[in-house]
Amino acid sequence: MQVPAHFEYQRATSVDHAIALLARYGADARVVAGGHSLIPMMKLRLAQPEMLIDVNDLDELGGIRVEEGAEGRELRIGAMTRHSELLGSVVAGEHYPMLHDAERVIADPVVRNRGTVGGSVCQADPSEDLSGAFTALRATAVIRGVDEVRTVPMRAFFTGPYQTAVGPAEILAELRIPVRPGGGSAYVKVDRRAGDWAVAAAAAALWLEPGPGADPGTVADVGLGLTAVGAAGFTAVEAEEFLRGRPATEETFTEAGRIAAGHCRPIADQRGPTDYKRHLAGELTARALRRAAARARGREV
Ligand SMILES: Cc1cc2nc3c(=O)[nH]c(=O)nc-3n(C[C@H](O)[C@H](O)[C@H](O)COP(=O)(O)OP(=O)(O)OC[C@H]3O[C@@H](n4cnc5c(N)ncnc54)[C@H](O)[C@@H]3O)c2cc1C
Repeated sequence: MQVPAHFEYQRATSVDHAIALLARYGADARVVAGGHSLIPMMKLRLAQPEMLIDVNDLDELGGIRVEEGAEGRELRIGAMTRHSELLGSVVAGEHYPMLHDAERVIADPVVRNRGTVGGSVCQADPSEDLSGAFTALRATAVIRGVDEVRTVPMRAFFTGPYQTAVGPAEILAELRIPVRPGGGSAYVKVDRRAGDWAVAAAAAALWLEPGPGADPGTVADVGLGLTAVGAAGFTAVEAEEFLRGRPATEETFTEAGRIAAGHCRPIADQRGPTDYKRHLAGELTARALRRAAARARGREV
């Protein structure tokens, strides 16, 4: 039987209370959200916090809405948003269908009903689906600490496997995604069986400059995300740079996939050998781009 080491438990009554507890107990304390990653790690004694701070009562960390930010409208997703809430959110799906694509393939309803968006990105598992999705969307993390709120771009948020920019006396409060009309987005994943962690997955957010008549137009801007394939920062900047200004064609997307795959450093494990994962990184990048382009053109695929 797997049993966690002894720990104390406190239910935070506000975000400030949770931060004060984190500050008081230091490195011995951990926030628990859905508990779907932390509790199994505690049972395996891979994590042994002495104080568990439960943030499940904190409505301030919930909600999905569009609000005006300093640089325009933003889709704001509270850290305690459950996977199932994001999957069911009409406003999230309208702006970024990629988020629904990703949520649909995360685990199963039991995990999705409890696991949270904030817990997923704070866990920073290299196979976490939302990490690739939020990176492609150039989300910003809002992090609260003692008397301080700071924002960190998603591309600087992940500091290594299972490591993030959230400090020991800080809490991830929210993720903000700029609302930019006229684009398309998609997330595609290969898993060994339904609901499993990714063998590999790719995300694409794409904005096109339309061309005349049957001209496919050009790529005005793009964001890419890659999960489970050892991509630095969960992204593929070289492929993004290649794509900008090029014709939005099948050939361009295939070449972008090839470039993305070339910069991945997957590791061999029970989900597959490195060559297979690298192949998937390229293929899935091209598929995500294709699907995002179809959506940008108003065609669902
Ligand atoms: C059987 C199973 C299958 C799964 N399959 C997938 C899958 O296919 N794809 C996928 O992406 N995920 C998968 N997951 C993971 C799932 O998405 C979890 O919900 C997620 O990893 C963690 O979210 P949580 O809310 O449970 O976080 P918790 O386990 O509560 O916390 C995880 C970590 O984040 C920290 N944390 C949580 N919230 C905050 C916050 N607001 N601020 C600061 N730190 C915080 C905690 O201290 C802890 O270190 C699976 C999980 C299980 C159990």
